[in-house]
Amino acid sequence: MSADIYARYLRLRGHEVIFVTGSDEHGTPIELEARKKGLEPKELTSAVHRRDLELFTELGVEFSLYSRTESEVHKEFVKAFMSRLMERGYVFEQDEVLPYCEKDKMFLPDRFVEGKCPNCGYDRARGDQCDRCGKLLHPSELLEPRCALCGSRPLFKLTRHWYIDLGRERERLLKWLESNLELQDNVREYSLNWVTQGLKARSVTRDTSWGIEAPFAGAKGKTIYVWFDALLGYVSATIEYLRSQGREEEWKSWWMGEGVRTVYFIGKDNIPFHSIIFPAMLLASGEPYVLPWRISATEYLLYEGSHFSKSRRVGIWVDEALELLPGEYWRWILTRLRPEGGDQNFTWSELYRIVNSELNDDIGNYVNRTLSLIQRAGGVARGPGEEVLERAKEIAERAVREYDNIRLKAASEQILELARLGNRYLNEREPWHLLKSNREEASRVLWSAASIAKMMAHLLAAVMPKTAERLWSMLGLGGQVSKALWDSELYNFPEEYRVSRPEPLFTKLPPDFLERLDEIIEEARRRAREKRPPFVRD
Ligand SMILES: [Zn+2]
Ligand SMILES: [Zn+2]
Repeated sequence: MSADIYARYLRLRGHEVIFVTGSDEHGTPIELEARKKGLEPKELTSAVHRRDLELFTELGVEFSLYSRTESEVHKEFVKAFMSRLMERGYVFEQDEVLPYCEKDKMFLPDRFVEGKCPNCGYDRARGDQCDRCGKLLHPSELLEPRCALCGSRPLFKLTRHWYIDLGRERERLLKWLESNLELQDNVREYSLNWVTQGLKARSVTRDTSWGIEAPFAGAKGKTIYVWFDALLGYVSATIEYLRSQGREEEWKSWWMGEGVRTVYFIGKDNIPFHSIIFPAMLLASGEPYVLPWRISATEYLLYEGSHFSKSRRVGIWVDEALELLPGEYWRWILTRLRPEGGDQNFTWSELYRIVNSELNDDIGNYVNRTLSLIQRAGGVARGPGEEVLERAKEIAERAVREYDNIRLKAASEQILELARLGNRYLNEREPWHLLKSNREEASRVLWSAASIAKMMAHLLAAVMPKTAERLWSMLGLGGQVSKALWDSELYNFPEEYRVSRPEPLFTKLPPDFLERLDEIIEEARRRAREKRPPFVRD
């Protein structure tokens, strides 16, 4: 969502953008889930991929490409990349003692083994990472390990694995982390601390069949560890997208060219993979890849004070949310609750306030008042404008700066400021009286008010694209707001506005929404469940 908003923002500023991501299909959590359901992993991931793409579409998220790590382009790219690291001497093999379940007759990589975190004591830490404190782990570090399939205590047995020696990139990583001032403070400090302490060699292979075959001699039956595979998806999805456009030969200019910038949108638990492991891999390839320009890492969104949890059924899922309110509303709500400066709490009473007070009373009501008054004035408002536009421009300037720094919640705050300024202005100038006494002055007030609404349409175009287009057309402005570049159009006002009859931009939630909440959520859950394909997230 944030990435979609920022991609739209960049296009509105005239930048050329490729916006890719994809389903991360490999890895032990999926294999584990499929095994528990008696399915082949790919049956499960194909269904999830299709459903996720539908839901993204309903949320108005428009990728250049939403790929998947099972795509042939991706698998070929990962194998070629790993072979290159091997040729360059970054990969070595070594025997390792790993947990093995006698009952399930298999090694227990990553999530197949659980136990107590040696760092924070969380008792459901996984073999590769603790979900509570974020620390990356080795299965042997877990206290009281147990098999995630059957719960029995594993034995530790010898097996051979391939390792990537990222420590060789320590100096270059440190230099990049210190010199890239676009990195958020929390990302840089966390990563510098880690890299300074030293980069351990990490195993890149796993004893599982689900994944991309390891392309190393003697590694038959082993697959590439999911994180090394998934991170390279940023590159392979770019290649796949450009191939679909018949311009595959351009891909290197997007990853190694002058003036290219890459921006990543992640939750804070994924910081080390994006700020250490991925850049180290790119450096190790010996090719001139651009390293991350920015990594926008958000804090956690809590649900009524608790962590979202699929297993404990805490939270509301996207398909259920979309049964309650249209995607366009959720884009605004989630922007308003974006955990930019610290963890953020989602509550239903806050959602109620955001929809009824911000969207309806502040923005919707302002637009409705302005357009209705212009209707009363004969449907036309002519300039010149009044001094209020100078204050409105200052607010819009602040919104642009916030967007530019990927502070999307802060940008949305400025859009509300603009609506509140507009409402206050109408209250002060009382154009409904002026219409009777001084039509010329009334027209100037209404032209100013419409110009504020036009700026709102521009600034909303990244967060609520459909609403922004409706507002744009009600203001009688030609073309599409999504094509009106800010640098030339944001403060470029028409001589007159010829508006159409206003239609409400938003609908309020009913006054008893919070009282009937349980019933309303239950109904949304039921409708969402009916639409789910079999075995997707039950
Ligand atoms: Zn922990
Ligand atoms: Zn077992």
